[in-house]
Amino acid sequence: MRIMNFNKRKVDLKNWGAISAADWKNWEWQAKNRIRTLPKLAGYFGLSSETVQPLKTVAGVYHFSMTPYYLSLINKEDESDPIRRQCFPDIKEVQFTIDGVPDPLEEEACMPVPGLVHRYADRCLAIATNRCVTYCRHCNRKRMWGKNLPTRQKDYLKRMVDYVASSPVIREVIVSGGDPLTLNESLLDWFLGSLRSIRHVDVLRIGSRMPVVMPMRITHDLCRMLRSNRPLWFNTQFNHPRELTMESARACDMLLEAGIPVSNQSVLLKGVNDDYEVMRDLVYGLQRLSVRPYYLFQCDPVAGTDHFRCDILKGMAIIEKLWLNVSGLCLPRYVIDSPGRGGKIPIQPFSLLADRSQAH
Ligand SMILES: *Cc1c(COP(=O)(O)O)cnc(C)c1O
Ligand code: SF4
Repeated sequence: MRIMNFNKRKVDLKNWGAISAADWKNWEWQAKNRIRTLPKLAGYFGLSSETVQPLKTVAGVYHFSMTPYYLSLINKEDESDPIRRQCFPDIKEVQFTIDGVPDPLEEEACMPVPGLVHRYADRCLAIATNRCVTYCRHCNRKRMWGKNLPTRQKDYLKRMVDYVASSPVIREVIVSGGDPLTLNESLLDWFLGSLRSIRHVDVLRIGSRMPVVMPMRITHDLCRMLRSNRPLWFNTQFNHPRELTMESARACDMLLEAGIPVSNQSVLLKGVNDDYEVMRDLVYGLQRLSVRPYYLFQCDPVAGTDHFRCDILKGMAIIEKLWLNVSGLCLPRYVIDSPGRGGKIPIQPFSLLADRSQAH
């Protein structure tokens, strides 16, 4: 494996008590030691009680969780740190002038059975779980975070399998969430295997942010299981070049070595990556990892994410500059998602408009 120029960080393990480097690299340790309560958060960041007080309101509406690994990417001195912005609860989630709606894409209206979104004829999306190990503040399924999904997970998933089996138009199933890699590994194997054994299902796809927020979850055992369910594609979500660490590079490399193509879907986020240089470094870094920049999403008008939304013209300007300057293999498609069956609409640069220079 060749890793070049990836962030070599020194993690101060003392933040976590008497742990060993082996603990740090163990995903179960990472999962168990997530920060999920305000006292722990305050302790880690050294927050004053005045700072913590308003966060209670946010946490009551949208819970939070951060893995020690993802926390270790944050520069604690910088309150506007781009990694911090993605996982740290913000009062703006509940205080806004114009808020979005819980489900702007009207996914709930496109669910023939609970948790299965069928918006495009040839493919569907299975919300296999609503759990994640780190909750992204910009998540477009925030509405689901607090909800109790059926406790009998296997029955919940089985209904989706039955629906897919009875719908010959479906040739691809996207297993997403939440983060499907939070599911028990043998249950996930059963789910993938059941889908794959349906004659008209050609391809599976996993949508998971584990390579970014808890790369230790990508183990040899997991790769072996995923490998046995090929053809399987893996889409993840790196949003900032500082998320491209040695650890995440290793996770992507293991998936690639298992014959699983890895692609990336970024979200354009104000104060995180709404900047040409940041986006260029991100796509260059992804290309070095052999991870294909697939989509750049305009942040949907989801309730609680207003403070992340960028102007579309700004997004277009960034994409246009990328288009003119970087390798075609590094170019994500910039899309805005629309309700129901409207689907993802590509937003193209202005480059080919002949009279653009006279337009203003
Ligand atoms: C985005 C999405 C897909 C996948 O679309 P691609 O363009 O193939 O990546 C499938 N189903 C739903 C509901 C989606 O939102
Ligand atoms: S990993 Fe995905 S589903 Fe989970 S909080 Fe982040 S954006 Fe939402």
